[in-house]
This record gives sequence, C-alpha cells and structure tokens, in this order.
Amino acid sequence: MNRHKATQASIRKAAALIRAGGVVAFPTETVYGLGADGLNPKACARIFEIKDRPRFDPLILHECSAARAKKLFSKIPKPALRLMEKFWPGPLTLVLPKAAAVPGIVTAGLETVAVRVPADRTALALIKAAGRPVAAPSANRFGALSPTTAAHVKKQLGNRPDMILDGGRTAIGVESTIISFQGDKPVLLRPGGLPLEEIEKAAGAVLLRPAAGKAPLAPGCLKKHYAPAARLKLIAPGKAVKPAPSAAYLAFSTRPAGKWAAVKILSPRGDLREAAANLFGALHALEGSGARTIYAEKVPRHGLGRAIMDRLRRASA
Ligand code: AMP
Ligand code: MG
Repeated sequence: MNRHKATQASIRKAAALIRAGGVVAFPTETVYGLGADGLNPKACARIFEIKDRPRFDPLILHECSAARAKKLFSKIPKPALRLMEKFWPGPLTLVLPKAAAVPGIVTAGLETVAVRVPADRTALALIKAAGRPVAAPSANRFGALSPTTAAHVKKQLGNRPDMILDGGRTAIGVESTIISFQGDKPVLLRPGGLPLEEIEKAAGAVLLRPAAGKAPLAPGCLKKHYAPAARLKLIAPGKAVKPAPSAAYLAFSTRPAGKWAAVKILSPRGDLREAAANLFGALHALEGSGARTIYAEKVPRHGLGRAIMDRLRRASA
C-alpha cells in the first residue's frame, strides 16, 4: 500500500522520502504531481522511468515561496516579477534563465528552467518539509490523461511511486499556464489554470507563440498528449451526432439526446472554471466506460476555456 491520506505525519514521511532520493505523488491545485528532489539528478531520473517519459521533456520545479523560487533563476525581467507577486502561489509556471544549481536533467539541457509555487496546502507543506525544490511533472503515464485524484494516479502508476499522498480532488483540474519571456515580453508556452486575460492585465499583451528561434519552445507540448485510450472527436456543441452504444459523449453544459455508452456534462451551468475542474475526471470516467469513440463538444475559447480546448485538441490529435 503506497497510498496514504495526506496528514501531518504522512507529509513528513513523504518529505523524508524525497530527501532520500525517493519519488512521491502529491496533490497540487492543478493536477497530481510526481515529485522528487529537484537538485538530485538521480532522483529526477526515476521520475522519467516511472512515467515512461522521454528525457527531452523538461520538468517543472515547485517551491514553497516566491522568495525561494526566485533563487532558481539567474535573471528575472520586471514583468516576470509582477507576475510572481500577483499570482504565486497559483497555477502559473514561469520559464526563465536557470541558476547554476539547477541540474541539466530538470531542464532537458536547456539554459532555462520552469518554476512555480503551487497553491495547495499539502503541496506547500511537503515542499517546505523537504527543504528543497521539488521537480514534478503530472503523475500519469507519459501522454496519458492527467490525474486529478489519487485514484487516477494509482490506476496509472500503481506501486511505482514510493508513496501517493491523497489530498482529495484537485481544485483547478488543468495544468498550470506556462509563460516564458522574449526580453520583457511574456510569451504563452501552454494555456492552463490561470486565464490569459488575467496575465495580460498584470503584464501587458502576451505573445501567443514564440517568434521562430527567439524564445525556448515548450519541448513537452506535443501535438498528441493528454490522450484517453478511446478515439476522441471534437464536435460543435449541440451538433447532431448519431448516438451509438459504443460511443461516449462529453457535453459542455447540456445533455445530448439518445442512448450513449456514457455521458458526462462538464458544467450544467456553463461555467468554464467548473468545466476545467471536471475535465480530466470526466475523461477518465468515459475512458473507463469502454467506449471506442468519445465525442467531445468544443467550449468557448475564453478564460479557462482556452486550456480546456488545448487539452481536448491534443487528446484528439
Ligand atoms: P508537466 O510537468 O507535465 O506539466 O510538463 C511541464 C512542461 O513544461 C514541459 O512539458 C514543457 O513543455 C514545459 N517546460 C518545462 N521547462 C521548460 C523550459 N525550460 N522551457 C520551455 N518549456 C519548459
Ligand atoms: Mg503532464
């Protein structure tokens, strides 16, 4: 049994495991992470093994305060400082030139490092007790659906992690928004739990993609990712598709007519935050229904809708 309810005692044990080079799955407000000592290359290598993740895919370092997080960078432009002050702890990852102490396995050899301060009690307590940055990608098999509960982690990774801390369902439910910089200009590398609109209010216009050869790309942002085992097809909301007992349906707010293998509604009141929080749980459930095809309705592309559409597009690739 490697799954434990998050308590002071289990968090302390998990922190000791991390200090000793172990790998622990833990909740954050976005999705569950698979964490190891971010300054220990051997421990980080185990993350890649457990996930079957390719080595060219860099890891995000998690810290317990902005003050500590800043030390992982060698250079911080002014707008990045504003974003840290305003949105940390929270679902925002910043990619900036790395400090010398950050090992190459964390950055996949890049000169930049991705860092964030999560807004989750268990995550913060764990990182604080570990006393070092915790490197953590999502706690799933590479390319598969991201986990928003400890049960999702257990289903995909079993006993591979030394411990799974169960802190309940994650509050936001999609991964962090990743921002890098071209000089002083913020660039969006991955839409996520912090809406672009809020970032623009604090730091001005955000470039939606890096100029060719100018800024680091996000190597892990593959076209196909976050994919359920079934074939996912994106459709316009309410578009009449023929119901089939071998197909499942992921609706934004309204139940489709007819008989389906399974149906999930992301948010009956049409709220994009609620929809994001339910996204991966719904996909896990539809995948579990055994359906061969999942029809997924497109959602409006503002606020958290941008992150939802990004995940659905990749899942359908
Ligand atoms: P995950 O931890 O699974 O949410 O994925 C982290 C993602 O952050 C990676 O797949 C990359 O796309 C991105 N990332 C991490 N470090 C860097 C970096 N130094 N430069 C650009 N993108 C990064
Ligand atoms: Mg991931």
